[in-house]
Amino acid sequence: MTLHIDSNRLWQSLMQLAEIGATAKGGVCRLALTELDRQGRDLFVGWCRDAGLEVRVDAIGNIFARREGRDPTRRAIAMGSHIDTQPTGGKFDGNFGVLAGLEVLRTLNDHGIETEAPLEVVVWTNEEGSRFVPVMMGSGVFTGAFGLDHVLPQKDVDGFTVAGELDRIGYAGPQAPGEVPGGMFAAYFEAHIEQGPVLEAHQLPIGVVPGALGQRWYDMTVTGMEAHAGPTPMNQRHDALLAASQLVQTVNRIALDHAPHGRATVGFMQVSPNSRNTIPGTVKFSVDFRALDDDALAAMDAALRDACASLAATDERLAIEVEQVVYFPPCRFDPACIASVRQAAEELGLGNMEVVSGAGHDAVYLADVTPTAMIFVPCKDGISHNEIEDASQEHVAAGADVLLNAVLRQAR
Ligand SMILES: [Zn+2]
Repeated sequence: MTLHIDSNRLWQSLMQLAEIGATAKGGVCRLALTELDRQGRDLFVGWCRDAGLEVRVDAIGNIFARREGRDPTRRAIAMGSHIDTQPTGGKFDGNFGVLAGLEVLRTLNDHGIETEAPLEVVVWTNEEGSRFVPVMMGSGVFTGAFGLDHVLPQKDVDGFTVAGELDRIGYAGPQAPGEVPGGMFAAYFEAHIEQGPVLEAHQLPIGVVPGALGQRWYDMTVTGMEAHAGPTPMNQRHDALLAASQLVQTVNRIALDHAPHGRATVGFMQVSPNSRNTIPGTVKFSVDFRALDDDALAAMDAALRDACASLAATDERLAIEVEQVVYFPPCRFDPACIASVRQAAEELGLGNMEVVSGAGHDAVYLADVTPTAMIFVPCKDGISHNEIEDASQEHVAAGADVLLNAVLRQAR
């Protein structure tokens, strides 16, 4: 017999949390470490205490709610996400993963089920990064990606610091970051809305997430020669925009050559002098490459550099500069945790498919320190970071059911 969460209770909790910072257009504005964030945290902590959970807070304000297991030697299985939002955010991004975790523990309470391993639900501080940088601050400090002394002095646009705001809202906890009773988590599961259109297009309720795409970002500069658009014959031009436009096509083809996970985008371009009767002399543009493994990213990098070299070789007055400005390594989640998610979905009779994460999540940092997996559910039209972000009660309940059964597989 497979266990199910209480779909109505999960939905009501989501709607109740969404009232804190509710916007006129049906979204939520609850920026990290604001008074509204404090109210959201207080509501969550109250629910945890009602469920008999032991609540701890660490020095970066991450909240941990623990349900003890039968075996005191076992390390905890964790679930979680974030409850801060974008300025024009929605009800589900982050909030779903936190409240699905709480719902899992409430369900175990309802059925009087004791697990072998302890279970914890975590709220990670400032995942969104819209008020304070860096993004994914709480999980980054917890996993050691950056130090407390680096993030505590960070200021928002009004000059308020992370340290001061944590203190003001009462969430500067005593626990050292990275500390978990009994040792680091044995596994971490994060349920999240997909934030993309794939599950909806396939009409499937569950995304099994193999990992998150790595990224390489570039600043490109093509230099040709400015000349008059009229008197200069076509065979005597050194048109920087013509070369750049060929490279835009090439960039797109490079991602298609690395299907299904390759992504390539030129989202920024500056043409100089940008005058209708002058042949463009300089073009600057961006390239954003993403892929699920480092070999693919390296091959995409090599293909871009080759294309630039052969294009530049056709014209001695043409120069092409390629500068890599950002690199995030790809993240592969844990095969056993991924298998638990897939098996839970199968047992529940829920249609599922692999969906890679194109965005960053707290789970990407957690994967550095513990076996990790994610569960995606569809969101309407693939839209998030928008007040119109929406998901169905049926889908969030399905995602929480998968979370429950995947965690039980690990905690028994
Ligand atoms: Zn999120």
